[in-house]
Amino acid sequence: MISETAKAVSEAFCDDKAYSGPTPQELHDIIHQDSILPEQGLGWKAVFDRIKTQVLPNLLRTSSTDYMAHLHGPSLLETIAAEVIISTFNQSMDSWDQSPVATEIEVEVINHLCRLYGYGAGSDGVFTSGGSQSNQTAIILARDWFCNSVLKYDIKKHGLPENFRRLRMYTSEISHFSMEKSAHILGLGYESVVKVPVDRRKKMDIQALRQLIDQDKKNGNIPFLIVGTVGTTDFGSIDSLAELSVICKENNMWLHADAAYGSGVIMSLKYRDRVADLKLCDSITVDFHKMFLLPISCSAVLVKNGATFDALTIHADYLNREEDEEDGYINLVDKSLQTTRRFDALKVWTSFQVRGQQGWEELINKSMENAAYLYGKLKEDKDFEVITEPEISSVVFRYVRGSEDTDTINKKIRRCLIHRYGTVIGQTVSDGHVCLKFTLLNPLISREKLDNLVETIRDLADIQK
Ligand SMILES: *Cc1c(COP(=O)(O)O)cnc(C)c1O
Repeated sequence: MISETAKAVSEAFCDDKAYSGPTPQELHDIIHQDSILPEQGLGWKAVFDRIKTQVLPNLLRTSSTDYMAHLHGPSLLETIAAEVIISTFNQSMDSWDQSPVATEIEVEVINHLCRLYGYGAGSDGVFTSGGSQSNQTAIILARDWFCNSVLKYDIKKHGLPENFRRLRMYTSEISHFSMEKSAHILGLGYESVVKVPVDRRKKMDIQALRQLIDQDKKNGNIPFLIVGTVGTTDFGSIDSLAELSVICKENNMWLHADAAYGSGVIMSLKYRDRVADLKLCDSITVDFHKMFLLPISCSAVLVKNGATFDALTIHADYLNREEDEEDGYINLVDKSLQTTRRFDALKVWTSFQVRGQQGWEELINKSMENAAYLYGKLKEDKDFEVITEPEISSVVFRYVRGSEDTDTINKKIRRCLIHRYGTVIGQTVSDGHVCLKFTLLNPLISREKLDNLVETIRDLADIQK
């Protein structure tokens, strides 16, 4: 079963287009049936046939060099092998007696990551389901740290303080929506999230941030957290963590870095200066299923002061007894929002050793250099406008020639690319205008590919007019 699946998967991979499936309606018709739970089981062979004809050919191929839409890409082969082990052995990371060596590996990987990002003794971290959960974890730790140590209020025991409506966190207007979502889930509401404007380079406007905090304080609000983004989802822009760190110190606030996207840059000696200030932050979101090219899901949250994980610790007699810890049995559930949890750390452990510093350097540099190349090319081309100079590996631009409705033209270009060319690129909005986006995570993308794609886009634009 496993080996025939592997064979079918590799055959389906032969098609090098990102998408060769049909339209949404046609897909619905292919997949829909009265029930997926027949009275009698069909058996593996029948279902496998269905998988081979209906599913595999219609899957999006994130490994394709024609896929550059979102922040995930091909998976490194050794980490697909690791996935087989992870699923087969089904360790759960909550308690030592469900994951003995896996627990050791996660602890080892977390310790290495803390050093890699410049954290010292006392730092800690945990693997999570993704950047959204990493951000949420950090916001919980920030809120609890602030209530406990600044407001002298035990939030874990009593729930939100009476003046909770006054708590404020600050993040740029283009930061990830998991900030608002977390604020809502934590009982703080969207109103607690102050959206700070960005400058021309799509970085948080520090002057505006200072004014907003001062104004809030004057109005009796309580600033407790700043979230800087290291690699905004659309533009890959990096907020100035050094300046944010000064403001946090002045105001006794927590600094979280959402580096879901940009965390991968640390693997490049050539470019790591761009993210070196991560070490100044109280917590860092690292996503391995984005720039690091690991299979979904794989993420971690790192914390400068590991003791703040106490916010998430609660003991159960059947799972994580207090005496375990005293006897040297580590139960990682003490740091996690999840209970049952995947052994994702194995993928990081494997790929770091397989590739080494040099191997990683090449992967990351290639994607950064492709972005710089495309930027240079489009900047010189009068048919296009490029929104910002890339700091990581995304290039956002628009086709602008002619007086026609360029928003519609840009939208149509993207759709045509999917259905006519099997090429999937991104689309977003900047300053009210529709833009196209190349997210160049795949290190196999060549300059020639980029040159050809720009010409295809120009041709498609001409046809639309
Ligand atoms: C992708 C992303 C997230 C969310 O991460 P998931 O792994 O998708 O949950 C958060 N922040 C930024 C900046 C992102 O790009």
